[in-house]
Amino acid sequence: MDCECLGGCPFFHDRMANKPALANLMKKQYCQGDATDCARHRIFETLGKDAVPSDLFPNQVERADQIIAAG
Ligand code: SF4
Repeated sequence: MDCECLGGCPFFHDRMANKPALANLMKKQYCQGDATDCARHRIFETLGKDAVPSDLFPNQVERADQIIAAG
């Protein structure tokens, strides 16, 4: 299932400064797979869109959890 953020997500649209080598794989895994595992989506859901760092990649869940814990 496509992520609800897909339309405006800078990661999905390759608008982030550094594109990881596995970006296309991540898109399949998270954006068009299970977005509940995505670091960006986790912050979007808990703290809102504006709290998502511009350089956070979907697999940086540990960093996302730290940001969420800090509120
Ligand atoms: S799964 Fe994550 S990276 Fe993909 S569109 Fe949703 S918020 Fe963006």
